Amino acid sequence: MISSDVTRVASTWSGALESPSAIPSVADVVIIGGGIVGVSTAWFLARTGIRTVLCEKGHIAGEQSGRNWGWVRVQGRDAREIPMMQESLRIWDTLENEIGEDVGFRRGGCFFTASSEKQLEEHSAWLDTAEHYGIGTRLLTAEELGQHVSGSAAKWAGALYTATDGRAEPHKATPAIARAAARSGATVLTSCAVRGIATSGGRISAVVTEHGRIETAVVLCAAGAWTSLFCGSLGLNVPQLRVRGTVARTAPADGLLNGNVFDDRLGIRRREDGGYSIAHGSILEHLVTPASFRHFVKFIPTLREEFRILRLSFGREFIDEWQTPKSWSLDEPSPFEKTRVLDPKPSKRVLKAIRGNLDTIFPPLANTPIVESWAGMIESSPDVVPIIDQIDTIPGFHVATGFSGHGFGLGPGAGKAIAGMLTGKDSGIDISALRLSRFFDGSPIRLQASI
Ligand SMILES: Cc1cc2nc3c(=O)[nH]c(=O)nc-3n(C[C@H](O)[C@H](O)[C@H](O)COP(=O)(O)OP(=O)(O)OC[C@H]3O[C@@H](n4cnc5c(N)ncnc54)[C@H](O)[C@@H]3O)c2cc1C
Repeated sequence: MISSDVTRVASTWSGALESPSAIPSVADVVIIGGGIVGVSTAWFLARTGIRTVLCEKGHIAGEQSGRNWGWVRVQGRDAREIPMMQESLRIWDTLENEIGEDVGFRRGGCFFTASSEKQLEEHSAWLDTAEHYGIGTRLLTAEELGQHVSGSAAKWAGALYTATDGRAEPHKATPAIARAAARSGATVLTSCAVRGIATSGGRISAVVTEHGRIETAVVLCAAGAWTSLFCGSLGLNVPQLRVRGTVARTAPADGLLNGNVFDDRLGIRRREDGGYSIAHGSILEHLVTPASFRHFVKFIPTLREEFRILRLSFGREFIDEWQTPKSWSLDEPSPFEKTRVLDPKPSKRVLKAIRGNLDTIFPPLANTPIVESWAGMIESSPDVVPIIDQIDTIPGFHVATGFSGHGFGLGPGAGKAIAGMLTGKDSGIDISALRLSRFFDGSPIRLQASI
């Protein structure tokens, strides 16, 4: 059963200026984007006394960071992300104590189920990576899996399992970190789109927002799905495509599992409110736009790998993007003010499939209603690994984007690493492999993980 009225609960952000009447005139660092990457960076910076201003065009966690599955996992990741993710898990562990707010973090484990011995064998390929990084990932037999996940009618052969992985509540975590950043001295502005930057002598001298200028020498663009457009207006090519993910949540129900379970047909995790967050395990929709053609060559390896799960759809988005200006005057409203919150509609077809798969795999949940559904626009880089870099051609300008469907778990660790990059201090996290130039210097574009 799916309730007919599918609404999106707003994130629990409060306490920010709704539409700032006055903004700081100067900052050490200005961050564009109030997703988990931007707010975590602001939190790390503000705690060291850096005068930080974060500008968010809509509301905190309004886009990807408030719409995701809530999985906080190291399992299955590309090796380039693992040190950052391990640090992130350490931060998640103590986050609630440090900021004094509930973010819903629990270590309930992560299970990639296998429907056959062959698929179990394929999953086992990640065990070498796990061993290399000292992660206690192991294979579970069907019987062992049954001790963690009950009520399933699926004939699983076993699972890849990492007990130390966890989950958190997206609608709580990012706003809570933003409030912590504000308490540490950061200025967090919502309804404040950044239109562009000003330079002087070839260096950044200010950001230009819809509410005026903020003088600064250092800018971080953590603009999620808008990064490519923003950077394009500065003459920078940041290859990025969008895919729509549809998600739903059930009413509170029996506790059949305590972690995150992935089956090709269903991704499911226990929620703090006693329900489950659920999604289709293998449908991602790419809404074809002019950017699909512009970046096509760089995404060929991704398309080849994700071929089975990507559905191409053609609709209004093509025309919308076609009509979006690629550059604009900083004195006039920009495309970022036109779309305050990117709020794609959940796909009815996918919701139907999620409902059917939930009932088939977990018959005890067949009568549990789906009480809310939503969609989020995932932004992906060509190798589905983030881009975190300083841009040499615009001294002072930095980019953190391309978290490719798994940046929520990474967010706090990314914030620590990015704060180090912005201040020239060693965060202890190596981000050299995440440089933007890897897509332009002839390096092979290789996928080690999926979106
Ligand atoms: C359906 C779905 C499921 C996912 N599941 C998981 C999961 O289980 N685990 C996981 O780890 N990750 C998951 N992810 C991915 C994760 O949500 C993202 O990688 C992460 O939230 C990215 O954070 P961000 O801060 O980079 O971007 P965002 O959260 O998108 O934030 C960027 C912000 O920048 C703002 N902005 C853009 N342009 C401007 C401008 N010019 N001026 C001011 N503000 C601007 C936007 O309004 C937006 O709020 C999922 C994502 C989706 C959509």
